[in-house]
Order: sequence, then structure tokens, then C-alpha cells
Amino acid sequence: MKKKILGFFILFLFLISYTASASENSNNKDTLQYLARPNIVNSTLSDREFTKFENIIDKALDLLQEYDPDAYIRVCLNIKQIGHQQDTPDALAIANMENVCLTESLHKDSIKYVPWFVAGILSHESLHTSMYKYSQTSILGDLYRTAHINQEEILAHQCAINTFKKLNAPDWAINEHRITQQQFKDKLTN
Ligand SMILES: [Zn+2]
Repeated sequence: MKKKILGFFILFLFLISYTASASENSNNKDTLQYLARPNIVNSTLSDREFTKFENIIDKALDLLQEYDPDAYIRVCLNIKQIGHQQDTPDALAIANMENVCLTESLHKDSIKYVPWFVAGILSHESLHTSMYKYSQTSILGDLYRTAHINQEEILAHQCAINTFKKLNAPDWAINEHRITQQQFKDKLTN
């Protein structure tokens, strides 16, 4: 009887170690390869600018796929296309229904117009596009969303902060997001 228990115990250990090694061997690239990435579209950039634009977004998506797979899944399932927008007030990106536009303000910012920062932006905007999609499931969805826009911003900022942490981004990027996130929190309490 004791031998039987020992046998089960060994089998149990074997299964545990097999499962653990199997999960170590499969990386995000293998498991996430079936997701379709958002289309990258051009309307306003020159050919040379658009090549750089595509390159930065591709690398940003690579970073998400490797280091923040949850955000990568959110981005791929909820953002249809990523484009560029010429004239915008101080926003770096805008989510419009299921589409995201990176703005000229970002394009001109040589410190932020880089893959790791754009990865944080896509993580943030994908929360907005997913909330948009979710709101479409109810007749009152848009109204509810408008009423909770500050909460949505707080969450979207948290998505970017989480991504930045996973990418070992510099403290200034995380702190900057914490400050704007706090402004939305203050709006809720005032
Ligand atoms: Zn936002």
C-alpha cells in the first residue's frame, strides 16, 4: 500500500515538473502568433516618415508581445488600425472608436517617438478602444461610458504604467503618467 502511495507521489512530481518545463519552453511568440496585429495606415506622412512610423509601431508591438502579453492581446483584439493625425491639441494619441491615431505632437517629440514609449501609448489607448467595443453591447453603453470617462482614464493610465514597468521604462515616464492619473482621480473626489 505504501509503495502505491509512493508511486502516485512520484507520478505527481513527474507531472508537475513536466508541466513546469513545458510552460518554460513555450514563449509568448509561439502562443501569441495567431493574433492579428492592428493595421498601420498612412494618410498624412511622407514615404520616409511613414517607414519610420511603421518601424516604431512594429517594434512597440514586438515589445508588448514579448514583455507585456496581456497588453498585446488587448491591443490586437481591440485596435483595428493605427494611423497618424496632423493637427491635434496637446494629446499624444487619440482613440476614435476602434482606431488609434498617434498625433503630430508625438511625432515631433524625439524622446517619446520611440518604440518603448509607443508601447505604453498603445497599452493606454487599447483600454479606450476595448471600452468602446464593450459599450456597443448595450443601448445605454455610450451614455454610461461618458458618465465614467474619468474612471476610464484612470484605468487607461494604469495600463500604460503597468506596461512601462514591464519594459523597465525610465522613472520619468511612469511618474508623468502617475501625475496625470492623479488629476483624473482628483476630478472624481472634487
Ligand atoms: Zn486616455
